[in-house]
Amino acid sequence: MHDIIVIGGGPAGLTAATYACRAGKSVLVIEKNAFGGQITWSPRVENFPGYLSVTGTELGDKLLEQAMAQGSEVELEEVTGITPVEGGWQVACESGAAFSAKAVILAAGAKPRMLGVEREEEFVGCGVCYCAVCDGAFYAGKPVAVCGGGNSALQDALLLSESCSKVYLVHRRDSFRGEQKLVEALKKRENVEFVLNAQTIALLGEDEVSGLLISQDGSEHVLDVEGVFVAIGHQPDLGAFAPYLALSEQGYAASDERCLTATPGLFVAGDCREKTVRQLTTAAADGAVAALAAVKYIEK
Ligand code: NAP
Repeated sequence: MHDIIVIGGGPAGLTAATYACRAGKSVLVIEKNAFGGQITWSPRVENFPGYLSVTGTELGDKLLEQAMAQGSEVELEEVTGITPVEGGWQVACESGAAFSAKAVILAAGAKPRMLGVEREEEFVGCGVCYCAVCDGAFYAGKPVAVCGGGNSALQDALLLSESCSKVYLVHRRDSFRGEQKLVEALKKRENVEFVLNAQTIALLGEDEVSGLLISQDGSEHVLDVEGVFVAIGHQPDLGAFAPYLALSEQGYAASDERCLTATPGLFVAGDCREKTVRQLTTAAADGAVAALAAVKYIEK
């Protein structure tokens, strides 16, 4: 049995692992996709203390390297559920593997929010994408749309404007939630067009996306695009752990200032935690707090 299992290998989970290892505990981090989490989708991070500019992948790699250098074990597995057992928790994985620990830190992050228009799921991989860093290269020289008005959408539009023939930035309001500095940078790109106060109505195309139907100023029109990059935020995916959590209406896990959930021995950190600011820095901060609280819980 490990002392602590951390579910999720993003900034929150990897920071938790680093802190728990340094407190002398045995730690296993289980990640289902890529260590580094959502940050690996960010082409450039300029607001993490100590770094003027770093790619998300590089930062993710460093966080992983740091946790492992402190002694953390890591597994690439998809966790399907947790069960309380004598002295702690059993963590079950899709592959059939099972691990146990005295305490669990949930740092499972959040998954991309979907537009919610017809045929969206059908077009995933055939024109609909949720990660410009991962899929942008497939659309080099082609017209695309980016949906959203936060930092992710602005960064995605900037990145795509470097290789795509045209980038429509489609946002439902006339002002952006993301940083002004990014908006100004986009205004300087000749192949970027802001499509504001616009609602996405439908994805058009047979086997692949060939257009995006939008409604703007009371009328509908089609943007001729081959790719639609959806960047409208994220939502947590804590269904598998719901019996042991108090979930908010949006599905985030409630916790106290120690990151302790409704259940003793179960902590939560990062973007899946109910809180007001979801940033890399607050994810890392949660990781440290949750780890130290879990260490205290084990030593009690
Ligand atoms: P976000 O800040 O929550 O922005 C989501 C955007 O999508 C908003 O503009 C929102 O519109 C729009 N939206 C939400 N639901 C929609 C829907 N159903 N249809 C159409 N539009 C919809 O999400 P994010 O951009 O993914 O960023 C998440 C957090 O990560 C933020 O705190 C951000 O600052 C941070 N981040 C940081 C970096 C970095 O470099 N450090 C990079 C990316 C993201 P409204 O504005 O009208 O609500």
